[in-house]
Amino acid sequence: MKKAIYPGSFDPLTNGHLDIIKRASDVFDKVYVCVADNPMKKYFFTTEERLNMAKESCKDIPNVEVIYTDGVVVNKAHELGCKVIVRGLRAVTDFEFEFQLAAANEFINDEIETMFLMASSGKGFISSSYVKDFYLNNVDISSLVPEPVLKYFKKR
Ligand code: ADP
Repeated sequence: MKKAIYPGSFDPLTNGHLDIIKRASDVFDKVYVCVADNPMKKYFFTTEERLNMAKESCKDIPNVEVIYTDGVVVNKAHELGCKVIVRGLRAVTDFEFEFQLAAANEFINDEIETMFLMASSGKGFISSSYVKDFYLNNVDISSLVPEPVLKYFKKR
């Protein structure tokens, strides 16, 4: 069984993330979407909100499971029997960060590969930061995030 883990902050999960999740779920038998807490980062949504938003957004994709870690993603991957970490690339600006992250992960465990999926056309500009910024400035974000995420924004 080919298993992969797709880690991220998902603060919140966007249609760009969901596109990567769906495409990865076509390639792998099982995809773990891993909501990761980094103690160095400040989040807009709570861990519970980020987890629930991801769970509700992925509920119709049968081979996707949403999980959580506040530890090292590579170790979580190993624990779950995942050989692959999936990440998304939107633009050249993502490359430097992702390249270093992949190298750091390889340093921790070189049996786990990082594989990249390019953003689908029309989705490359979507980021959690823009979505939050748009929402706070009354720009309609309904085409940028899954329905459950909108609900969590409205609760705020
Ligand atoms: P992190 O804080 O770990 O970067 P994010 O939630 O911002 O977490 O992103 C998780 C992954 O999804 C990253 O690899 C990022 O490049 C990718 N990603 C984010 N938005 C998009 C998008 N619109 N299209 C493709 N990949 C994306």
